[in-house]
Amino acid sequence: MSTPLAGTRDHPNALWLQSSAQGNHHEHLRIGIMGGTFDPIHNGHLVAASEVAWVYDLDEVIFVPTGRPVFKLDKNVTDPEDRYLMTVIATSSNPRFTVSRVDIDRPGITYTIDTLRDIRREYPDAELFFITGADAIAEIMRWKDADKMWNLAHFVAVTRPGYSTDFTQLSVPQGTVDALEIPALAISSTDVRRRAGEGEPVRYLVPDGVVEYIYKHGLYRRPTDAEQTGEAPISEASILS
Ligand code: ATP
Ligand code: MG
Repeated sequence: MSTPLAGTRDHPNALWLQSSAQGNHHEHLRIGIMGGTFDPIHNGHLVAASEVAWVYDLDEVIFVPTGRPVFKLDKNVTDPEDRYLMTVIATSSNPRFTVSRVDIDRPGITYTIDTLRDIRREYPDAELFFITGADAIAEIMRWKDADKMWNLAHFVAVTRPGYSTDFTQLSVPQGTVDALEIPALAISSTDVRRRAGEGEPVRYLVPDGVVEYIYKHGLYRRPTDAEQTGEAPISEASILS
């Protein structure tokens, strides 16, 4: 069963999809898939997606928030609906960015092979580009059915500061994984969560709407002792600054 994608071709307002990032027309749609936990989505994700869209002349980048990520089973992950909504908010101003629910609506653990198959079903003729961090690409070999993924999409490994970009050790088929250096943004969701938890500012690390969503829903908040005993109100000044 396929899940409709917000803002895609089937969408009534989708006239913008007529040409690619560089204004070209391709015989087949060129679609980027940006998978991630997006807990929360941050400007590093958005820059990476935008850069890959430009370099690979993509028509669209579909952000796919994971359901239960296989590599984070031991960690607390924010409710999928919150992560989905923050991803929608963060991408809403870019007509080339859309968000898919395929992973959060599929029960069980999220495996990339299932994401690729679901999107492929949705776009049988498109050329697919799976966008992933250089840190995550090293995990590829451990993904379920890794050997079957190479036929479904090209893989673009985006580098970010502080992570190794040496792919020569990986035994992936030649030509299936490209490395792309993107403008350096040393942002991680882990750091955003920590900052929000400690009341440090996160504005400009994540889009404004996401800052507001985090505050409004009290995500990542670690109440102080005084707040826990009800002696002090939780301050909104720091997180919104
Ligand atoms: P966490 O710290 O919780 O692991 P994250 O910042 O790595 O979060 P994910 O949702 O795990 O975010 O990332 C989704 C994808 O985006 C991954 O492939 C990751 O490598 C990549 N990515 C994350 N941050 C950046 C960044 N600053 N620049 C480029 N790519 C990034
Ligand atoms: Mg990560």
